[in-house]
Amino acid sequence: MVRVRFAPSPTGLLHIGNARTALFNWLYAKRYKGSFILRVEDTDVARSEKRYTEQIIEDLRWLGLDWQEGPGVGGDYGPYIQSERLHLYREFSHKLLNDAKAYHCYCTPQELEERRQTARSAGKPPRYDNRCRNLSDEQRNAFEGAGRPSSIRFVVSEEVVAFEDLVRGRCAFDMGLVGDFVIMKSDDTPSFHFAVAVDDALMKITHVIRGEDHLSNTPCHILLFRALGYDPPLFAHISLTMGPDRTLLSKRHGAASVSEYRRLGYLPEALVNYMALLGWCPGDKREKFNIEDAVKKFDVKDISKSASIFDQQKLDWLGSQYLREANLDRLTDLSIPHFKQSGLIQDGFDRAKIKSIVEAVRPGLSRLLQIPDEARFFFEEPTLDKKVTELLSSNTAERILTAMLKKLQQISGLDKSSPYGDKFREIVKDIGVETSLKGKALLMPIRLALTGKERGPELFAIAPILGLEECKKRIENALLILTKK
Ligand code: GLU
Repeated sequence: MVRVRFAPSPTGLLHIGNARTALFNWLYAKRYKGSFILRVEDTDVARSEKRYTEQIIEDLRWLGLDWQEGPGVGGDYGPYIQSERLHLYREFSHKLLNDAKAYHCYCTPQELEERRQTARSAGKPPRYDNRCRNLSDEQRNAFEGAGRPSSIRFVVSEEVVAFEDLVRGRCAFDMGLVGDFVIMKSDDTPSFHFAVAVDDALMKITHVIRGEDHLSNTPCHILLFRALGYDPPLFAHISLTMGPDRTLLSKRHGAASVSEYRRLGYLPEALVNYMALLGWCPGDKREKFNIEDAVKKFDVKDISKSASIFDQQKLDWLGSQYLREANLDRLTDLSIPHFKQSGLIQDGFDRAKIKSIVEAVRPGLSRLLQIPDEARFFFEEPTLDKKVTELLSSNTAERILTAMLKKLQQISGLDKSSPYGDKFREIVKDIGVETSLKGKALLMPIRLALTGKERGPELFAIAPILGLEECKKRIENALLILTKK
């Protein structure tokens, strides 16, 4: 059975690149009816923070990437937080020590740094020179007697480690170039390599799908697997996500974390679709597909080898597609906090009205945060700025608005039952016949008077929401400004 894991280090927010790794793991597990495991890699005590663990968990839940084993869920191979597994790393490091596959190293950080410097200036790779590998008992006792702290290093065999990466094909590394690396630090906590290998082995991970930045770590992990007596899993290293300038995607390129995209109001399904497209597509030319479609078609071997470039326009396009088709009640509920935050509504607001407003404005938008802004004119009378006044100052505009006001004064209400304002539409049509104007020339003055903006939602959807009285008032105001000129 397929068992994959997502193993974030809680040293920062969940980045789009990492969330994409989580998504690919999740898709693979779903595709092969396996398990998706969440493991928190928090052994770097100085850089890990609990608030990041909490935020990562919340973001994954928001994206809908549920895990079958992990924090909050449990499972047979827990605990799933590395800082709660320290006893296991200690136990396995002692096993390696007993088997002479690891040894205590007494070199101090300062000594190590000095030797690295010397190697660098001699043009040699700054690898550890394995000097503590063969200490005599006397030497060891002397260090111990002097109270020198020790780390535990793994004996790296001088061989070429090769493996078949599911994305990148055959990879081979000459381990003769790698020094014996630390598996337990002098504070008795595991190194990154050791914790990953022990956990992947104990958690029976079958496929390690992770960022390409870990490719060169893989031979170290393979040697550890073998030394611990486990078969290594299969590996798939996925390319990284770059900004448009082809440097690693980061905050410099604008939003980069899932929580930031969430704050901006992208729907999770839009972000999930977009992240899947970063290096993968369902085999046809389609760019918009839902997660069930992706599950049916997903395979790691189809992930592109080349780096993916973040494309804000595409994300916005997908955002607008999903906003347009989202269930209207759900969208209304999701928009309400944004309306409140922008001060447009308070408790006791008219939900039905908000729903019609959301329906009217959503076609032109790609995220929730844009909704209140786009809808502001429904709540606040527009101020007709200089540009709008200029646009309105033609004779035809005045004729259109005068005729409109007259017709509105003769009716008792706008047809609210029709979202497209059929009564209003009829009036506009009549004015068109009377003035022989059509298209933009006919509609723009009305739009400007009602909304104060050149662009916005469908005109016939606006009027019934504003209501007859408000429409009359706004047209009167516009006429007042025009005649004052
Ligand atoms: N904790 C590592 C990271 O956040 C991932 C390690 C792995 O996937 O093997 O980069």
